[in-house]
Amino acid sequence: MDEVTPIFGENVFNETVMKARLPKETYKQLMKTIEGGEKLDASVATVVANAMKDWAIEKGATHFTHWFQPLTGITAEKHDSFITPTSDGKVIMEFSGKELVQGEPDASSFPSGGIRATFEARGYTAWDPTSYAFIKDGTLCIPTAFCSYTGEALDKKTPLLRSMQAISKQAVRVLKLFEGNENVTSVKTTVGPEQEYFLVDKSVYDKREDLIYTGRTLYGAKAPKGQELEDHYFGMIKPRVQAFMKDLNKELWKLGILAKTEHNEVAPAQHELAPIFSTTNLACDHNQLTMEMMRKVAAKHGMVCLLHEKPFAGVNGSGKHNNWSISTNTGKNLLDPGATPDQNAQFLLFLCAIIKAVDEYQDLLRISVASAGNDHRLGANEAPPAIISIFLGDELSAILDSIEKGVPYGKHEKEKMQIGVTVLPDFNKDTTDRNRTSPFAFTGNKFEFRMLGSNESIACANVFLNTVVAEELSQFADQLEKASDFKATLHDLILKTIKEHKRIIFNGNGYDDSWVKEAEKRGLYNLKSTPEALPHILDEKNVKVFEKFGVYSKVELTSRFEIHNENYSKIINIEAETMLEMAKKDILPAASKYANKLAETINLKKAACGECDTTYESAMLKKVSALTSSIYSKTDKLESEVLEAKKTADAGDSSKTAFFYREHVFAAMNELRLCADELETITPKELWPFPSYGDLLFSVR
Ligand code: ADP
Ligand code: MG
Repeated sequence: MDEVTPIFGENVFNETVMKARLPKETYKQLMKTIEGGEKLDASVATVVANAMKDWAIEKGATHFTHWFQPLTGITAEKHDSFITPTSDGKVIMEFSGKELVQGEPDASSFPSGGIRATFEARGYTAWDPTSYAFIKDGTLCIPTAFCSYTGEALDKKTPLLRSMQAISKQAVRVLKLFEGNENVTSVKTTVGPEQEYFLVDKSVYDKREDLIYTGRTLYGAKAPKGQELEDHYFGMIKPRVQAFMKDLNKELWKLGILAKTEHNEVAPAQHELAPIFSTTNLACDHNQLTMEMMRKVAAKHGMVCLLHEKPFAGVNGSGKHNNWSISTNTGKNLLDPGATPDQNAQFLLFLCAIIKAVDEYQDLLRISVASAGNDHRLGANEAPPAIISIFLGDELSAILDSIEKGVPYGKHEKEKMQIGVTVLPDFNKDTTDRNRTSPFAFTGNKFEFRMLGSNESIACANVFLNTVVAEELSQFADQLEKASDFKATLHDLILKTIKEHKRIIFNGNGYDDSWVKEAEKRGLYNLKSTPEALPHILDEKNVKVFEKFGVYSKVELTSRFEIHNENYSKIINIEAETMLEMAKKDILPAASKYANKLAETINLKKAACGECDTTYESAMLKKVSALTSSIYSKTDKLESEVLEAKKTADAGDSSKTAFFYREHVFAAMNELRLCADELETITPKELWPFPSYGDLLFSVR
């Protein structure tokens, strides 16, 4: 027997377990909720809770928790024990339907962006039956949504579920207009997020305050060897990393997570894990668990898993590729072009909806991946630029072009493409030569949104994506439903969309400077940093689209705007404070010590033999002294910028504050770092207070 099958999903209260343990009628009711979104009866919840508890206790669990995803971007849990005292001084293990369905964590410590202040509402958690309960660390974890008592979503899951409903409803409207979809009642968006990460040895990590406090190195001169040879990419995986991956896979499999491929990435010490895709909300839950497990398993192996988007300057950062598609309850992938004219027409319509959505809501997609960490990657020639565009490949683009112009496609086709009548010409769906520089690439039967940061929840990107595509589908459905000539209207709609939105399609090199200029000419957004991107979330069209589908209310959007700005400022502030501490307590004293050593040597040499040459020592002493003075003054500068930033923050405008951190504090940090890194290159290893980039990047052997 292989080792995967017996353990796969062993800690998950999945369909198989439910089927085996629930009375037939309860199981049926529950499946109706899971698959059809029907409301769950309280009596059903009681039966499910009891079965869940018995199953969990048999597996050694003693506690349960409502597991949720507050706006901090990580997951939260508050453990309660199953223990209930009895009148005779003993205990029984109990878990009621009410405890399963609803919980009340102390919400005050989670960010609400002003929602709670406005509504004085406590938060509560509500069971999401569409994501299976699981056991982690002896605790039964129940995936839940987290809302205020006035109904505002305080988490990432609630809007995600709302957005999935929105796209399902609109897609079904469109699908009902095509033949062959008689049994389609719902669609689900599917996601396979590829996760990048770094592994470093715990012993070197522990010596770096910057890694401990901020997850990235704030100082560090380039190592003699970086990623230039590209010998790490798809290279041999080191035995220690192999052991880690094996363990990680096992833990993930137990949780029913479909971890599949793993390989080294471009940078030394960088690796990637790709799961098999699943429904978006499951994929999102699973990605959170994957990140948690990566950290835990690394610790077991004496390593630290760095999930930050840019742990090392000058070395590729980490992202997450959000492979996204839409499929029907009948199992059809709607982004698969299909083989018949009818299937092709349907595919083209969905493709057009996505093209239009991405063009009209570029700003939202950009915001969905905006964070202090990700700002280091986007547009830095290692990840897609901050400009949103779509890659379709030359062939599919040429097909759209010929549809638009009404001319024959390719050499062999004599007749022009007629939507719904002619079959789409074959185009290359091979993924080997795909463009890696595009932020949003069509890869044969799905889109790969490549801008996500490694450390972020994938929820936001998918909420935004689902919602904006739902909007375009609803517009299309509005027009097609009332069309007297369906085929002609469909044809015109596709033509019009290509014409009006083809500016978003770009198949060239996204890393090239000329693209920035070209994109500007096309009128595309180039929102370079988080503070610059965030204000657009409150643009009228954006508020409108979220309100239309009930995904976010204006209050909820405003709260997210506040939280994101605050979070950005907090991160930069922590980084600045850490830099200051390292400069003052470690770097400057080390510089002094080195200068002292050099001066001593010069004096000793001179005393020992008057005409002895001290050119080297004198030159170094001069250099070290000059750099020390620069570091000192840059430290001062950074310190005063941080003070200024705090004053700005006190004035209460979160966006203004974020801008100040970006333009002043962050800029001062970069200046300080430049001098310190230069000093590192001329300081003897034993005097430099931290492990070097070389020590870190090649620490795992
Ligand atoms: P590649 O390795 O060439 O990037 P894969 O086909 O292996 O392409 O897919 C990469 C990721 O995309 C995997 O996580 C995979 O599960 C996911 N994926 C494949 N098909 C879909 C789909 N229909 N919807 C969402 N994700 C998908
Ligand atoms: Mg990929």
